[in-house]
Parts: sequence; C-alpha cells; structure tokens
Amino acid sequence: MNDSTTPTQISDLAAAYDVTLTDTPTPHDERAAALAAPRFGTVFSDHMARARWTADGGWAERRVEKYGPLQLDPATAVLHYAQEIFEGLKAYQHADGSVWTFRPEANAERFTASARRLALPELPVEDFLASIEALVRVDREWIPTGEEASLYLRPFMYASEKFIGVRSTLEAEYLVIASPVGPYFAKGVNPVSIWVSQNYHRVGAGGTGAAKCGGNYAASLLPQQEAYANGCDQVAFLDAATNTTLEELGGMNIFVVAADGSVSTPSLTGSILEGVTRRSILQLVADRGIEVSERAISLAEVQSGLRDGSIAEIFACGTAAVLTPIGRLAGADFDLTVGDGTSGALTMSIREELTDIQNGRRPDRHGWMHRLV
Ligand SMILES: *Cc1c(COP(=O)(O)O)cnc(C)c1O
Repeated sequence: MNDSTTPTQISDLAAAYDVTLTDTPTPHDERAAALAAPRFGTVFSDHMARARWTADGGWAERRVEKYGPLQLDPATAVLHYAQEIFEGLKAYQHADGSVWTFRPEANAERFTASARRLALPELPVEDFLASIEALVRVDREWIPTGEEASLYLRPFMYASEKFIGVRSTLEAEYLVIASPVGPYFAKGVNPVSIWVSQNYHRVGAGGTGAAKCGGNYAASLLPQQEAYANGCDQVAFLDAATNTTLEELGGMNIFVVAADGSVSTPSLTGSILEGVTRRSILQLVADRGIEVSERAISLAEVQSGLRDGSIAEIFACGTAAVLTPIGRLAGADFDLTVGDGTSGALTMSIREELTDIQNGRRPDRHGWMHRLV
C-alpha cells in the first residue's frame, strides 16, 4: 500500500553512526538457512549498533560494528545492581522491498522514560531512531520476508562503570542487536493458557512496573515457572496492594472482550508497562466504533464473566506475538475456559488488521509506519 519504491537517503543522524563492516560475514547459505526457520531470539545479524555515554562527555562513539561478545570487568555495575533497560520493535520488509518499523518514536520515548526511572542517561529520541536506521541499513539482508516474519530489534542500555558502590552509574553503554524472527506461532495462532499468580507480584506501587527493565523480568521468572508447573503457558499478575485486580502478563498487556462487544483493558496504574501494541489496539478498536475503556478489572469480575458467559474473549498483546488469544484462565482455586476455548473473532480480526498495517497490506491511516530503507 506504500507506493514509495525509491530507496530513501540515509538520515543525517544515522550517517553519524560510523560503520565498520564485519571481517567475517555469515556465508550466504548459512544466512538463508537461518532466515528460513528462525527460532525466536536465537540467531543474530552480523552487526550491532552502539554508543557510549559518560557523565562528563555525554553521548559519543556512535558506531555500527561486528556483532560479538562484550568484554565486561567483573565489577561492572549492571552485573551487581541490574541498572539496565531495553526495548523491542520489529523491522518489516514490504512487498516493494522498502523496510519499515512500527511507531518507533513510541519505543524511543518509552526508552527515555525507562532511563529516567532507572537513573540511566536519556538517549535522545532522534538518536534512538538513527541507531536503528543505521543498523538495519547495514543488515537489511537479514530481514526475513515470509508471512509474519520480521527482523526483531533489541535496543538496550546498561550501567557500564567499573564500580560496586551503590549510586547511579557515570558510564553507560547503549546497543542495538537484531534477530530475524518467523511467525511467533509456528503452527498458526492458537489460544494460550494463563496461570494467575496469587502469591507473587511483578512490582509494587512506586516500583519499576512502568519501566521496561530487565529487573522486572527477573522477578517474573519464578512465577512463570509456577505457571508451567501448573500446565499453563504464561503467568498473569494481580496488583500487589490488594491482590484482586488484573495487571498484565510477564511481558504482554491484557484485554477483555465482553459478550456485548465492548472492550476493556486495565488502566495504567503506574505498575503496568504501557505497550505500543496496547495503545494501537485501543485506537483500532475505537476506530470501529466499538466501546472501549481503560479501567480496573478485578479477577472476580473476570471469573464470574467467564462462568456466566458475559465475557466472550480475552487476549494478550505485545510486539513479539502481536495479539495472542487466551483460551483458558486458571489459578490456585479455579480453572476456566474462555468462550469455547478457541480464538475469539474480534481478537483475530484486530490481529489481522494490525499485522496488515505493519506489513504494508493496508493503508496506514494513523501514520504509524516509519520508513528505514
Ligand atoms: C514490552 C512489554 C509489553 C508489551 O509492549 P509492546 O510495546 O506492545 O511490545 C507489555 N508488558 C511488559 C511487562 C513488557 O515488558
């Protein structure tokens, strides 16, 4: 749907990233094999973008270089106090060969908000966008082209100062790595089961829940294991203060679709990570004239809604899986099927609309797509 077939000029800021090409590029056949069947997060492109910050000098040393191991002093601050933040977004190659990302400004702004909360330096929005453009231009042959395939981009920043005293770092490293990914659901979209954790929480009031930081994920891994042990795919968290309202999954936001067609999602209380996918779904649902609200959603309300049929669908959402239907919700003292346990109609329809926009198959009426190449 995007008719701009001429390659774009590199932006001035992206050109500020000095490129040193790898001396050991992945052989063509090996790359082709990796792109044909990528397993999420296991294969990485040949290069990475990076920049370095010091309290004295600010941001400097912007560059794209060979992907490879980092050498860390054992006293590097991040290894001790987890001063780290990250982002996740995707680059999509459209049918005409052009390459795009989806709302990267939103990721860039969230990255600065996360940096503030973790007392890390803020990377300017333009710099974030430029680093992604610079890397994707160098590694554009790593973008898979199959159905629902993309190049997953992982910008992150960590406290790199060699210092184990407790204060915010005076040095930071920013990097972007890229991983080709196929469809999240190898065998087509299937509903997942959710374990509602009633004895662990992700974060508390005033904590880091609204920041995208590794520490939040560290705290979610044991409850995620508990979900597996109980035969579920993913864990959902309740609020820490009352243990009664639904917040989100370990790495995805959650939506409820009522039988009357209305849609709701937990309001941003400060302990929920505001997903770009969540925000986009709120818009697409409203565009259809459907009633949509951000509000407190209690577990009790969801349980009774599933029992009496007044809740028709529940889904999770995030960049990696886009929209994921939820077919079953279980916890220590309940086990409920959502609808008839299959993928909900609205869930699948919004999923298709969003992936069509991202892949250039439908008009981008909100100006969400950002061209990289
Ligand atoms: C990244 C993330 C999401 C989803 O955000 P998107 O921008 O939609 O990918 C939701 N919850 C948590 C905890 C996350 O880290």
